[in-house]
Amino acid sequence: MTADILVVGRMPPNVLGQLESAFTVHVLPTQESEAETMLRDVGPRIRGLATNAVQAPPVAVLDVLPNLEVIASSGIGTDALNADYAHGRGIVVANTPDVLSEDVADAGIMLMLAVSRQLLHADRNVRDGLWLKGLSLGHRVNNKRLGIVGLGRIGRAIARRAEAFDMVIAYHQRRADHELPYRYYDDVAALAADSDFLMVVVPGGPATENMIDRRVLDALGPQGVLINVGRGSTVDEPALVAALAEGRIRGAGLDVLADEPNVPEALCTMDQVVLAPHYASGTVETRLAMGQLVVDNLRAHFRGDPLLTPVT
Ligand code: NDP
Repeated sequence: MTADILVVGRMPPNVLGQLESAFTVHVLPTQESEAETMLRDVGPRIRGLATNAVQAPPVAVLDVLPNLEVIASSGIGTDALNADYAHGRGIVVANTPDVLSEDVADAGIMLMLAVSRQLLHADRNVRDGLWLKGLSLGHRVNNKRLGIVGLGRIGRAIARRAEAFDMVIAYHQRRADHELPYRYYDDVAALAADSDFLMVVVPGGPATENMIDRRVLDALGPQGVLINVGRGSTVDEPALVAALAEGRIRGAGLDVLADEPNVPEALCTMDQVVLAPHYASGTVETRLAMGQLVVDNLRAHFRGDPLLTPVT
């Protein structure tokens, strides 16, 4: 008898077919009453959950899955996964680290360049027949100071790329890593004060909520640019909007927002801001690799093996 698996949220294209060939799959409907009906019907049979780091189900759904053994999530963030709650129930949890680091790093660098060289304004000018009209000079990235908040897997991939731009790299996180050749700051505002670009790539959740606040933005200063490819909750968004509007920082590149997919209206009117729809890992190659890890983690669990990439 194959295990029953519940699928919640968007899945990479290679997941469903593979799951269907190995398990009995139930895709949770997006319509609330249909979802409730399905959960009443199959909830007690569900032993595995396939989901993603953004659309993971709330505790109320986990509560109607009394026989759930494993959650396999596509993505890294565990802030939406209720991993502590799951662990408390003895449910094992897996995510998909490493396979997306290079793409997310690319996206961070892309946003940094797009803000500095006003790429979207320039593109719009050319399409509108305006050419250089109203387009001021951009700013150099080469040789500038890059402060990375969270020099983990993705942060290091960003640093490797920034080295090719001859950037001066420094970082903040809770613990210094003395193996690294970069300067460590134990205070994020002190790092911001010594940075031209502040690249944020820490996990979301209570420990980092509003970590990038007015104090940090003012330390970054009027020539500074904020890039966030981590989680929207890490940035105090009203403080960011005010800092941009008042010219207290120069610009921002944001792949993530506090209340996705809702965007503060003011950000949409600002030429010094480049916005992206939380798609830093969104390439065909990486999404297939993430999907494969979701499938492989579920297969490993139901074979009786340890998870390949457990969240601990
Ligand atoms: P890692 O766990 O490898 O790195 C996380 C880094 O953040 C570490 O350097 C860690 O250092 C630091 N950190 C963690 N908590 C804090 C804290 N409270 N204060 C300061 N620093 C902290 O994760 P990854 O690099 O693989 O991923 C990072 C995050 O990127 C993910 O958690 C996710 O939220 C986000 N992400 C965004 C994506 C997107 O599409 N935009 C895609 C994938 C991931 P230390 O423990 O020493 O503090």
